[in-house]
Amino acid sequence: MSDREIVIAFVGNPNVGKTALINAISGAELKVGNWPGVTVEKKEAIFTYKGRRFRLVDLPGIYSLSPYTLEEKISQEFLLDGRPDVVVNVLDSTNLERNLYLTTQLADLGLPAVLVLNMWDEFQAKGYSLDLRMFEGVMGVPCVPTAATKGMGVSQILDAVLDALQERRVLRVVRFDEVVEEELERIEEMLRDIECPYPLRWSSVKLLEKDHFFIEKLQEKIEYELPPWIDESRRKIERYYNEDVDTVLAVQRHGYINGLLKEVLKKPVQRRIELTSVVDNILLNRVVGLPIFLLLVYLMFKVTFDGSAPFVDWLDGFFNGFVAKWLGYLFFKLGLPGWVNSLVIGGVLQGVGLVLSFVPLMLLLYIFMSFLEESGYMARAAFLMDRIMHAVGLHGKSFIPLVIGFGCNVPAILATRALENERDRKLTALLIPFMSCGARLPIYALFAGVFFTKHRAEVVFSMYLLGMLISLIVGFILRRTVFSGEAPPFIMELPPYRIPTFKMLWRSTWLRTKAFIKKAGTVIVAAMVILWVFLNVPFGAPPEKTILGRVSSAISVLFVPAGFGRDWRPVAALIPGTAAKEIIVGALGQLYGVAGKDEENYSHPGSFVKDLKEQAEGFVGAFKEAFRLIFASLGSQALSVEEEESSVASAIKKSFTPLSAFSYMVFCLLWMPCVATLGMFYKEFGWSMVGLSVLLTTSVPWLVSTVIYTVGRLLGYS
Ligand code: GDP
Ligand code: MG
Repeated sequence: MSDREIVIAFVGNPNVGKTALINAISGAELKVGNWPGVTVEKKEAIFTYKGRRFRLVDLPGIYSLSPYTLEEKISQEFLLDGRPDVVVNVLDSTNLERNLYLTTQLADLGLPAVLVLNMWDEFQAKGYSLDLRMFEGVMGVPCVPTAATKGMGVSQILDAVLDALQERRVLRVVRFDEVVEEELERIEEMLRDIECPYPLRWSSVKLLEKDHFFIEKLQEKIEYELPPWIDESRRKIERYYNEDVDTVLAVQRHGYINGLLKEVLKKPVQRRIELTSVVDNILLNRVVGLPIFLLLVYLMFKVTFDGSAPFVDWLDGFFNGFVAKWLGYLFFKLGLPGWVNSLVIGGVLQGVGLVLSFVPLMLLLYIFMSFLEESGYMARAAFLMDRIMHAVGLHGKSFIPLVIGFGCNVPAILATRALENERDRKLTALLIPFMSCGARLPIYALFAGVFFTKHRAEVVFSMYLLGMLISLIVGFILRRTVFSGEAPPFIMELPPYRIPTFKMLWRSTWLRTKAFIKKAGTVIVAAMVILWVFLNVPFGAPPEKTILGRVSSAISVLFVPAGFGRDWRPVAALIPGTAAKEIIVGALGQLYGVAGKDEENYSHPGSFVKDLKEQAEGFVGAFKEAFRLIFASLGSQALSVEEEESSVASAIKKSFTPLSAFSYMVFCLLWMPCVATLGMFYKEFGWSMVGLSVLLTTSVPWLVSTVIYTVGRLLGYS
């Protein structure tokens, strides 16, 4: 077995740092988050150490190995059939009482194991101490204290794994009392006779508990019917304790853990009240909790927009002024035909440049979002929303996938797996597209920058709020029609507050920003080329007489009531926008860029060095400007940003009014999710749900935009 790859299953409660550990060991970039339910699917990283290949499998967080939630089923499935060589059970060392419960269940598997005592930094900060030698002795396997986020102890894990594997060190099994053990023994004997393919201790406990998931699995592998007397064994125990078997076993496991911890764990007498509970008294307050949340998010937008605006402008000028000019000159010098210039500069660069110019904005927003997630505050937001969600008949637990949807809708749909009930799951998934994902932000930023310069942050904030409001209303209606039923109560896990390390913040920010840039360089380039073709065939025709122009003009009548149907171009941008939302901005760049420049003369470009210097100065100046804007706006001075308008911006200004621009932003917010999201709908639920989602995300945006435009007109806006 020496050259085979070693498969390690990382198992543990939610939010104990499993993913952070895997990342720390392997340098992988799996998603870490300070809230339960981030990892629903199992993910893996591959790593070589001491000449051996390790496959590190990140299983979803679970509290026990019962068959009740999808996370538990995924984990049980993998532990039984995925043939892991070693189980690494990650524990939050500040909360061993709860964490060790799962450990006692893992022990029944009889696999080589390592216990990782993560969060050791917090453990020490709290003044706890643990008799590690004794603990290790009792548990029977190597124990490694670590602090994943600080990299402490991480390097010892793989050595411990090798050790556990070579010495076959397995977790000590918890013995139940006589009454239970006697029945377990009988079952075990029977299982041995029928050549049960799974660990005997584990199997006998599961049969006694009547774990449906396991029994079905076992039944598939063996030819015999399981004997009916197992039911009798169970009843015997239940009669004896006057309690169901699950409870009997759980009580005894907890008893064992309590006893063990009394021996090895020392906690200082609590003098001060925990910081977390003090802060929570304010942040989770019934009256001020929600307003504080909204205020924080609002401030986040404000700083994001003001801080990034100068950089966005600079990048815009960089692509459209500098790069376009010198690329044009190069093409001119090379004597390339006019259509090359039109395709590369008018098509791809106009579109992709506009999309990329929003990178500073995304970067800043992602930093803030990572901070909120990592610090533990997002989980509080879910808690705050729980009441509101319940009021409209939605599951409180639904809020987690919805918030994940603010980043990207695709993993959000995966995250609905945490909901036990299929109806709740589908309902929640249908609402996710109304959550404004990151890809939609550039659209708002573009229009807010043109029409609402003084209230950029407010207008964009209103988009996010509106998306949530619409999802509550749609959810309310669906709950009373298609998906009727009761939302069961739910207890939100509240992780302790944590000051995120800079490394952590940067990692998750960069992960998201990188994805955005990568998309701009691939999908959006391709989309811009295709769009350019449709916008230029037949060649030489004016834009509105091309294929795209004619088709969009025909459709655009439909959008007259919503306020943006008189021009074909906004509608034309929506069509490719179903592939990915970023394309809408790219397409607008291309469509409106065309109007801006007729025949440019590239023969006298001036001095390259001078232009380059100007760009560099502009970039440095942007820092100063950013700070000025942030401080001025926090001092709540409304200030206008003076800037020359780009050609795209002034073309857009002629095509929209502030009201129709707002209506268009709302439309883009609620309009069809991207193909990746629809694909996820198909994968998770099948075609009917894809259909339902498309139906909702075409009718709802049309209705809402029309209402907004009509009411706006009635109120006297143009
Ligand atoms: P998982 O749900 O078990 O995969 O947990 P994650 O890896 O997503 O981590 C949950 C949270 O705990 C994140 O905010 C991490 O930054 C944080 N975290 C992970 N390990 C440690 C640690 O050793 N010490 C501290 N202080 N925080 C940690
Ligand atoms: Mg995880």
